Amino acid sequence: MTAVYDDNNIFSKILRGEIPAHRVYENDDVLAFMDVMPQSNGHTLVIPKTPSRNLLDAAPETLSALMKAVQHVAKAAKTAFEADGITIMQFNEPAAGQTVYHLHFHIIPRYEGIDLKPHSGKMEDNGILSANAEKLRAQL
Ligand code: 5GP
Repeated sequence: MTAVYDDNNIFSKILRGEIPAHRVYENDDVLAFMDVMPQSNGHTLVIPKTPSRNLLDAAPETLSALMKAVQHVAKAAKTAFEADGITIMQFNEPAAGQTVYHLHFHIIPRYEGIDLKPHSGKMEDNGILSANAEKLRAQL
């Protein structure tokens, strides 16, 4: 059984403005910001403003707005980071690798022959995150 949503999670705090994030895109339904432990340069997260723990308990209308934004940010990230491709990832529950329990999609720029860094691995330098956010905002 899927656990219930707990608004104490870090993305809920980012949505409420209680902790900082390198925000790149926002509309009435979604927020996008840089992942602090990127698996590749330019790794970005897109989250709905409506709370859900993950894909399994999200309302269809939440997903509809979210996927539009995922595509919008993915296309911009491919250009901004001159990527060869984009990997989209999304995890549901701890057994599947989920570590933050507010629905999110990972947008990860990919380059021919370059493997991904580990999931939730090393914290990125703040200056690099800031510069990447600026690059991505310029394409959005
Ligand atoms: P999950 O494992 O739940 O799919 O992914 C959570 C993601 O959130 C990871 O990629 C991790 O690097 C990222 N993350 C964890 N804490 C923070 C944070 O405080 N701020 C930001 N921007 N990303 C975070």
